[in-house]
Amino acid sequence: MSLIAVTEVKKRFGSNEVLKGINLDVAPGEVIAIIGKSGSGKSTLLRCINGLESIDGGSILVAGAQLLPDETHLKALRLKVGMIFQQFNLFPHLTAGRNVMLSQTVVKKVPKAEAEAMARRQLERVGLGHKFDAYPDELSGGQQQRVAIARALAMQPIALLCDEITSALDPELVAEVLAVVRELAAEGMTLMMVTHEMKFAREVASRVVFMHEGRVHEIGPPEELFGNPKTPELQRFLGHGQ
Ligand code: ADP
Ligand code: MG
Repeated sequence: MSLIAVTEVKKRFGSNEVLKGINLDVAPGEVIAIIGKSGSGKSTLLRCINGLESIDGGSILVAGAQLLPDETHLKALRLKVGMIFQQFNLFPHLTAGRNVMLSQTVVKKVPKAEAEAMARRQLERVGLGHKFDAYPDELSGGQQQRVAIARALAMQPIALLCDEITSALDPELVAEVLAVVRELAAEGMTLMMVTHEMKFAREVASRVVFMHEGRVHEIGPPEELFGNPKTPELQRFLGHGQ
């Protein structure tokens, strides 16, 4: 059974049809890398799956439950599916530990002691067990992004959506964040990640999705998409065949 089933999903912003009928089934434990030009609809697709945007057509099922466009359903969905962005969005006045605790205590109403234990566990998991009391400005960008990952994990999501999570980082900090993602993948976490890191996608993804003008233009195993791109659009995107 699919963990995430996206069927004929359409999304419009005014007259701009951004998603033109997306079909994509993600099995539990799959790692889906999403690539494509800026403006092709990658972020919008993730935001629809996470319930940050409502859809104008089609359906999205997460763990068999239909995503309905009312707020209660969308909120429930956001609890199930974690999302990590290019910007870490940590609260600067809260320690790393408090940042990881906050959505648990506020959104999930988890008791404080339990939230703290979970925060320590998840910070440990991203290699930051010793930074519980550090403030964001005392951490590198890579460490801050790892805190953001810990924060998402603390909500015990059934899948994680990552939108260009290394794009704001200095090149030398990218590897430590990708190492965490690689570890999560190895543990069987279901991941959908928009990324420019082609080498990483090639190594870690079970399937790669190439989006072009609001459609899934090509999809397949990484060796196929990168090694033998079929459409001229993907060939051009990868810098082949000019
Ligand atoms: P990508 O992530 O592939 O760069 P996006 O999903 O961010 O693409 O954007 C796809 C298209 O949707 C773009 O034309 C963008 O301008 C438009 N778009 C995205 N978000 C909004 C929004 N909130 N309001 C209006 N247009 C939007
Ligand atoms: Mg984007």
